Amino acid sequence: MKSSLERRRKKPEWPAFTNIDEYKTTSSQVYIIKERCKECEWCIIYCPEQILEKSDEINAKGYHHPKLIDGKSFEDCAECHFCELICPEFAIYVVKQDDERGNNDE
Ligand code: SF4
Ligand code: SF4
Repeated sequence: MKSSLERRRKKPEWPAFTNIDEYKTTSSQVYIIKERCKECEWCIIYCPEQILEKSDEINAKGYHHPKLIDGKSFEDCAECHFCELICPEFAIYVVKQDDERGNNDE
């Protein structure tokens, strides 16, 4: 039997005019500010490429933050920034690898 997350986790139906593959690059990276996450799972559910999952780790508030699914790579990210836009806690963002704003210290 599928878990509630698996049931909700079908690929979203994007408008016909949106061809996500056109925007795909191999230069983006997803950064997660773990301590801000409240485990709402929106980024996981609505990522069109389905590359995120809940981590086994918990942050100081006791929430499981998202992580990249094992076997996926940042090359699978469509760089659509949707996770960034939908996150109510501003806990996830995407930058191009050559953009100096990106750091993974948090
Ligand atoms: S930018 Fe975010 S929502 Fe879009 S494909 Fe990458 S991880 Fe998924
Ligand atoms: S959308 Fe934001 S708060 Fe919700 S699980 Fe993802 S990172 Fe955490």
